[in-house]
Amino acid sequence: MSKKIGETMNRVFNFGAGPSAIPLEVLEEAQRELVDYKGEGLSVMEASHRSKMYDDIHTEAISMMRELYKIPDDYEVLLLQGGASLQFAMVPMNLSLGGKVQYVDSGSWSSKAIKEAKIQNLNFELVASSKETTYDRIPSNIEFDDDADYAYITSNNTIYGTGYKDYPTTKAPLVVDASSDIFSYPVDWSKIDLMFAGAQKNAGPSGLTIVIIKKELIDRVGESVPTILRYKTHADKNSLFHTPPTFGIYILNLILNWLKDNGGIEAIAQKNEAKAKLLYDAIDNSNGFYVGHAQKDSRSLMNVSYNIRNGGSENDAELEAKFVKEATEAGMIGLKGHRSIGGLRASIYNAMTMEGVQTLVDFMEQFQKENS
Ligand SMILES: *Cc1c(COP(=O)(O)O)cnc(C)c1O
Repeated sequence: MSKKIGETMNRVFNFGAGPSAIPLEVLEEAQRELVDYKGEGLSVMEASHRSKMYDDIHTEAISMMRELYKIPDDYEVLLLQGGASLQFAMVPMNLSLGGKVQYVDSGSWSSKAIKEAKIQNLNFELVASSKETTYDRIPSNIEFDDDADYAYITSNNTIYGTGYKDYPTTKAPLVVDASSDIFSYPVDWSKIDLMFAGAQKNAGPSGLTIVIIKKELIDRVGESVPTILRYKTHADKNSLFHTPPTFGIYILNLILNWLKDNGGIEAIAQKNEAKAKLLYDAIDNSNGFYVGHAQKDSRSLMNVSYNIRNGGSENDAELEAKFVKEATEAGMIGLKGHRSIGGLRASIYNAMTMEGVQTLVDFMEQFQKENS
């Protein structure tokens, strides 16, 4: 049975890791404007990316992002395609100067980024890794060299459910894959030189990629890099070098307006802390029925990865499957852990409500009573 809102709507609580929940208010506004955007007589999807109608949306999305995320003037905001995965390739193409490039391996997505850097035959160095402990933590011994061409981290590890409490400090340009925690807490831009994110976790639908890059890095790019893969190409044309993902940018703008209406990023960060605490407390107070994957000091506020051990020392895959099935029947979807580690994962991005997390926690307590 799914949760009923109003007479006709059947909305589930979506704990999926991505694409993931979008605030209901945003979907409803998009629905109202879908066939006739503000009396223009057409949908945003149908509008030319060179039209005034679209340009206003494009401009507002970028300026809202700058305002809410407090992005300094010496950074460029780019709205691209290709997902975070294309950034794994574009970052080295644009930032490598032939010197060393340094990476932290904190999970599957950093491993994939590392693979791309290695393909490009760069002077690659692994600075720290938590692979040995099944990526259950952010490595503690991260020391980047100040003279590296760039230093690379993944701020939130979507699959293993770990996140940095504080970004490392280095004089080398710091590149941050923030695909699964962008806009979820205020960031310190003095530490960051390039941040990128696929939009589909915390910032909109899939198909849109956000890149926030310090302007001085844009000119680094070598002449052999194809035009469309240069940050400079997109920066010079205000992300209108070619057709941008217009509808995704429109939804991003609605989400940014929703964030602003709800108190901005400081307010959502507090809400995110409270949601995560509720869920981690439920895990910690279950007497070993539920066991979190991440070490406590590395816990992600966005993706909570856990197992059912039923008081034992081994994961109980059968009970986990039963949990997912019964949760789905109760209107909570997307709780199956990633295939690489199994178990359970609740993604509680900005759009997940406190009500949704409370419903999950109540379900967890009931499930434990019935199955322990
Ligand atoms: C989802 C995800 C990616 C991959 O994003 P795509 O847009 O599918 O390429 C990369 N990094 C992180 C941290 C992610 O969560």
